[in-house]
Amino acid sequence: MPVTLTASHPVPVPPLVGVVSVSDLSNRERAVALYASDMPTRFVMRGSEQARVHGWMIQGAVRLGVREVHRLAAVAYGYRLLWLADLATAEQTRAQHLRFPNASRFSKAETTATLFTVRTDLRMSQAAKDRGPRVEGGCLCAGTGWIAESGDPGDPTMAGYISCPVDNPRGTALPQRPAVIA
Ligand SMILES: [Zn+2]
Repeated sequence: MPVTLTASHPVPVPPLVGVVSVSDLSNRERAVALYASDMPTRFVMRGSEQARVHGWMIQGAVRLGVREVHRLAAVAYGYRLLWLADLATAEQTRAQHLRFPNASRFSKAETTATLFTVRTDLRMSQAAKDRGPRVEGGCLCAGTGWIAESGDPGDPTMAGYISCPVDNPRGTALPQRPAVIA
């Protein structure tokens, strides 16, 4: 779905309130909704602008549809975890850039969502808190929770496994380990 990134006209908040509840969106989902909203990329949230931000969150969530907001936030979170662990594939990086082509806008949306979440006493539903990360496409662990890693390509005895940060974040998955990459 095309997303308006630069529009700055006023947000039609009242008709949309009640369609989507921001309480049912996690912080990451709130960021995704802001990214898709009319929030100007240069917007800087000040103390009195929580209502505007709330309106943009609803606007973006209505624009994308709540299910798409959930999906985008989950795969963006999964990508972030893989990227931080230096485990993201080129395909996953491409997919992330396609999802959020304007990286500075996504960063602004994340910052604004966090400020909103911290500064308002709007509750967050347990279901929203519980929605976790997802990997779009193939994960290097192939769903086993373990990724084979060769510490020294010339020395097979250095091969080991690292736990997948998305599918096995605590490193406690049963050892259905993939074959060692020699
Ligand atoms: Zn994985």
